[in-house]
Amino acid sequence: MVEKSIETHLVKKQSQFPTMCISCNRTIPIYEPHFVEEGITGHIHSLIARKYCTECYEKHGEHLLHMGPTA
Ligand SMILES: [Zn+2]
Repeated sequence: MVEKSIETHLVKKQSQFPTMCISCNRTIPIYEPHFVEEGITGHIHSLIARKYCTECYEKHGEHLLHMGPTA
């Protein structure tokens, strides 16, 4: 069986826990708005959902989803 890739987009969220932007590695403080990857057609596990700070989102928008983390 071929695994179908899930189409995703970014949704604005706030978190009760500090999180980290996987693009710039900045810590996103509690309750600071940020963007979380979510499946459009299917559910993606929150552990594999990528998270981005608003700064990176403003720079790259949904293109972030097609870029690798800047290591
Ligand atoms: Zn960032």
